Amino acid sequence: MPGAASGAHARTCPLCEAMCGIEVFVEGGRVTKIRGNEHDVWSKGYICPKGTALHHLHDDPDRLRRPLIRNDDGSFREASWGEAFEEVERRLAPLLETPDALAVYAGNPVAHNFSLSRYIGAFIQLTGITAIYSGGTVDQWPRNVVSALMYGRAWSIPIPDVDRTDFLLMLGANPFDSQGSLLAAPYLMKRLRGIQARGGRFVVVDPRRTGTAKRADEWIPIQPGTDAALLLAMVNVLFADDLVDLGTLVGKVRGLDAVRELSAGFTPEAVTGTCRIPAERVRQLTRELAGSRSGVVYGRIGTCTQEFGTLSSWLIDVLNILTGNFDEVGGAMFSNPIAWSMLSLRPPEFEEGFELGRFHSRVRGAPEVLGQFPVSCLAEEIAAPGQGQIKGLITIAGNPVLSAPGGDRLDEALAQLDSMISVDNWLNETTRHAHVILPGQSPFEQAHYDEMIWSWAVRSAGKYSPALFPVPDGTVPEWEVLLRLAAMVQGQTAADVDVEEIDDFYFIGLVSMITEQEGSRIHGRDVEEIVAEHPEPGPERILDFAIRTGPWGDAYGADPDGLTLGRMKQRPNGIDMGPLTPRVDDIVQTPSGKIELAPDYIVADVPRLKARLASAHPPLVLVSRRQLRSNNSWMHNVASLMSGRPRCTLLIHPEDAAAAGVEDGKLGHIRSDAGELEVPVEVSNEMMPGVVCLPHGFGHDKQGARLSVASRHAGVCNNVLAPGALVDVPSGNAVVNGIPVIVAPATRA
Ligand code: SF4
Repeated sequence: MPGAASGAHARTCPLCEAMCGIEVFVEGGRVTKIRGNEHDVWSKGYICPKGTALHHLHDDPDRLRRPLIRNDDGSFREASWGEAFEEVERRLAPLLETPDALAVYAGNPVAHNFSLSRYIGAFIQLTGITAIYSGGTVDQWPRNVVSALMYGRAWSIPIPDVDRTDFLLMLGANPFDSQGSLLAAPYLMKRLRGIQARGGRFVVVDPRRTGTAKRADEWIPIQPGTDAALLLAMVNVLFADDLVDLGTLVGKVRGLDAVRELSAGFTPEAVTGTCRIPAERVRQLTRELAGSRSGVVYGRIGTCTQEFGTLSSWLIDVLNILTGNFDEVGGAMFSNPIAWSMLSLRPPEFEEGFELGRFHSRVRGAPEVLGQFPVSCLAEEIAAPGQGQIKGLITIAGNPVLSAPGGDRLDEALAQLDSMISVDNWLNETTRHAHVILPGQSPFEQAHYDEMIWSWAVRSAGKYSPALFPVPDGTVPEWEVLLRLAAMVQGQTAADVDVEEIDDFYFIGLVSMITEQEGSRIHGRDVEEIVAEHPEPGPERILDFAIRTGPWGDAYGADPDGLTLGRMKQRPNGIDMGPLTPRVDDIVQTPSGKIELAPDYIVADVPRLKARLASAHPPLVLVSRRQLRSNNSWMHNVASLMSGRPRCTLLIHPEDAAAAGVEDGKLGHIRSDAGELEVPVEVSNEMMPGVVCLPHGFGHDKQGARLSVASRHAGVCNNVLAPGALVDVPSGNAVVNGIPVIVAPATRA
């Protein structure tokens, strides 16, 4: 198969939010080396071990190149694309009369894929499926709820202006391993050192002394799940010490008095036992934040995947607003990407403002939140008989058997499905239950330009990478797979689907929407004239449209010197339009036109937090961790990243290890209300006493998966210990941090 010309090719690593520029060296049609691209305007040569191993995803012999169809005996056989779509048609046929019986699960890799990220919305809209599940409810759903209700936009997420702040308070985030999350900023650790170099400080609040905490000016250990109590006490101090200063937001905020009243009972003394942080330290921290020339609070996964995820996410923004650090240089700011994300468009059903809990799940009655149910509901919705039982599932680039709470129950439930179709590159722990697997392309077989991640980037920039290698003849690109599936869910036969017609329909709808939008750069323009400039279907025209109608675009002739995708292509090292600028007036779309500081839906959860202040800590709780050489579950089949000592270990403080009778390097037994595991123990004073820690994404010991490297480093799945019913109430986000557990020596050696 012919490939890219021999030599170095500038690309963007698609694996994580850092979006590093890489140089890919090709020789004889094969990638021989990958290194950081020092000419990349965004990352300037930075790269992590995962980026240097990217070609192993392309070369992985386990990666699926052709569709698979499951035989009656459970084995799989390779099939042509035509056969595969005919099998999809056969599998979907019994479900067409009962649309409630079909659900969708979209995994985290969707966000990093050129096609899938631009077509997942189209797929959901066109199918009309309402049972939507995603990795979002084991990740950042509280953050989306907060942005929806405070700013009227679910995906407008303020980020810390790390390059210009003087004080950063970071909770539940570990960029040393994760590289940044809901915060795109390559080489974030160097940026944090930059705060120190200019005389500022950064402080990490976390139950574990992470790699980031070790490099911080201060580490403040906190009892897992109590960040909201700490933050509300900080709000209390701001009011008590008369430190509230809205700065430029005066007149743009509603609900200040409500926040003052809510914080009244949360003095530092009232929360000190709950958070295990001295009251005086809470006061000092608050004064330091309020007294800094510029300061910002940032929270990530640990503040979302816990019992009070929404309250924590809300209070982070409240603190930034109350200290005059919101929409200000060095504070929390909104990005302004070169190419806007389709997620920034508000769905028509929320035109008058966001309403949550419009319908409920069948079995446990969980409210929908922003159109989704908690992913932990999926197993019971499949398993419990009755009207509305899920009998068919389409998974898109996800592995919920490992990533969802109660994954073992989901594993059993998936085996009961009448029809399961997976769009995925691997036969993994989840897709081994599929009846048909439709593979996508490798990172080098498709173009790349991140769709939504630039929406939380620390600078206004953008980069396009062309495909490096062609796909095998007859391969159906992922965007086309999604449109074909959508049409078949709507009842079309495999033979009848006209992908170009569907894509035209979708694109014309998108162009019409933007021309009708007040304030759009093509408001009132002729739709046909614009559509005519994009005769080729697919994701590139959507990207071109987003660039051309974006802040620096040519607006279809209105600014002849403006950007187009064609112009971006001439700059393989990317284009950087500079640092963030204040833009809250463009962002806020609430019905009141103001930032809602105290949305009713969120503050209704404060009594639950108050009740938590009165309860005692469990003796031992579990938290999860991310690792530098891993990316959830999806890099465990790369041998060079899995070498070295085993990484799936239970971290435990020496005092807790002694009390539990477990020893370093020996197997321990860990049990929760949901399940139990045996795992090697690693005694470490990284942990605060009373908290133990497992990595996530492991558990590759399931029969039938085809992951030859991962299965040799199977580890255990921490989600077996997460009770599925335990969620952050307002968002439905899973709780995977702060789970009560008991640790003891294992019975086997
Ligand atoms: S930090 Fe690593 S995985 Fe993330 S984009 Fe950069 S090279 Fe890729």
